[in-house]
Amino acid sequence: MAILEDRFGRSFPYLRLSVIEACNFRCTYCLPDGFQARAGRPQPLTREEIARLLRGFAGVGLRKLRLTGGEPTLRRDLPEIIASAAAVGGIDSIALTTNGTLLDRRVARWREAGLTNLNVSVDALDRERFHAITGHDRLDEILRGIELARGMGFKAVKLNAVLLKGLNDDQLPAWLDYLRERDVSVRFIELMRTGDNLAYFERHHLRAEALETQLQEAGWRLLPRAPDAGPAREYAHPGYAGRIGVIAPYSKDFCAGCNRLRVTHTGDLRLCLFGNVGIPLRPWLQDDGDRDRLVAALQAQLGLKAIGHRLHEGETGMTPNLSTIGG
Ligand code: SAM
Ligand code: SF4
Repeated sequence: MAILEDRFGRSFPYLRLSVIEACNFRCTYCLPDGFQARAGRPQPLTREEIARLLRGFAGVGLRKLRLTGGEPTLRRDLPEIIASAAAVGGIDSIALTTNGTLLDRRVARWREAGLTNLNVSVDALDRERFHAITGHDRLDEILRGIELARGMGFKAVKLNAVLLKGLNDDQLPAWLDYLRERDVSVRFIELMRTGDNLAYFERHHLRAEALETQLQEAGWRLLPRAPDAGPAREYAHPGYAGRIGVIAPYSKDFCAGCNRLRVTHTGDLRLCLFGNVGIPLRPWLQDDGDRDRLVAALQAQLGLKAIGHRLHEGETGMTPNLSTIGG
């Protein structure tokens, strides 16, 4: 099977697909004023378009799919989307990134449909801080949903927390308590600068290296990176059931391990989270007979993928906030 490869020898078994732009939260670093619906915006990909997209990608080596958004669980047909991904041969991991607000009510259906991995965003374990960061006082129900999901045999349940100076940088002791007995992994993500959050970034950005030093001093040890792993540097500790991952997009070599592509909710291929171009794939998703043209478009575009992002130079690309592309 031909696989997608770029000029730098990187291959791309991992696709992050945004299935919706809308979100029900107002995370201060992402959509501080909430999602604003505007008339005339293109509709998200249909289930049929998504199935064609996934069959095309599977033909060139897709093994790991992440459904994201916006808030992907706001799509009523999410179980059907998961089931159609599970029906495509070769995809052995189907993950969902969610804010967890519908977890307690719907996770069983997603699991039955074929979801294998779950990531839930939890920026703080303290109720008031969580409320201040996300605009919603819903931490307790989200934590209940996570407990429910932990008993459902997922390959992994991971929690995402964006590191925010002055807003949640006192939460490490609470996380350590949480991880002592629970076999979940929490990923601390360094805040990324996007088109819309420049002033916020200046106020709240915190380097992930400082956290890594703290972890190492407390006896946490860096694990070797699995070949098709995501972007996190993962730590374990003999005294804890859980693990800690650190995602540091500003670190040296972050891009060298890039193995992922993104497609927006309207079907634009993005070669990089911080790139300046979106390549519309939707024209090749209207008919099953267009699959070879879709694959040819993917292969041609991969030839254009740059070696790395230019965030260090303040170049955030065309993404106003990560809700438009899925983080
Ligand atoms: N709504 C879902 C959620 O929050 O999990 C999925 C979409 S959200 C854009 C995906 C992830 O991106 C979340 O974990 C969120 O915290 C993270 N994120 C959003 N904006 C970010 C930023 N500027 N820097 C770092 N992470 C960000
Ligand atoms: Fe919504 Fe996720 Fe952005 Fe928060 S991070 S506003 S939950 S899309």
